[in-house]
Amino acid sequence: MADWAEYARVMNNSAGVVAADGATGTPEKSFCSECGRAFSREEMIQYGNSWVCAGCKPIFVQKLKEGMTVSGAMEYAGFWLRFGAKVIDWIIVGAVNMILSFAAGLIMFPALSSPNSLAAVILPFILQLFQIAIAAAYTTWFLGKYAATPGKMACGIKVVTGDGDKVSYLRAFGRYFAEMISAIILCIGYIMAAFDEQKRALHDRICDTRVIRK
Ligand SMILES: [Zn+2]
Repeated sequence: MADWAEYARVMNNSAGVVAADGATGTPEKSFCSECGRAFSREEMIQYGNSWVCAGCKPIFVQKLKEGMTVSGAMEYAGFWLRFGAKVIDWIIVGAVNMILSFAAGLIMFPALSSPNSLAAVILPFILQLFQIAIAAAYTTWFLGKYAATPGKMACGIKVVTGDGDKVSYLRAFGRYFAEMISAIILCIGYIMAAFDEQKRALHDRICDTRVIRK
């Protein structure tokens, strides 16, 4: 019965924090999420919002390996969820680029049909760069502002740093180009997410990001 009371106290405090017993200088204590007993934080390991005592650490680690999700810990989004999000983003960016390319084509047409062969070589190249810029801006802006592109929002997933923080615009921008590497190597960089214990794609490893469920 004493254990149950302890457990109730743990459940009422998602962070598992116990106020130090009045006395100043007392080390901050937390409840072990396994056995429910209070320990000084120095004797414990933290995982997400959960604290685990040294005695319970082996059993806790074993549970993690078996796929237990810890409250407050990050729940990594799986390969197919990420793939679905990617398809939605491809369709959106593809549609935008198609419209812009069509408009650009109309503008460029006189130049392309002129005998000036230099324009015929350079203009498609510029258009290509323009399309990359659109895709980079789309990814950077949505990830930096909302932590998720529309595709990821639709799939209920988002991109965070390895510590679970919001990604900056700069990191989101860098991640876009790191993702190109994942794509260039026959998409092996994407497929890596299916085999990583934290479901990281190559670009997640490069940029220290994780894709998690909201
Ligand atoms: Zn314990």
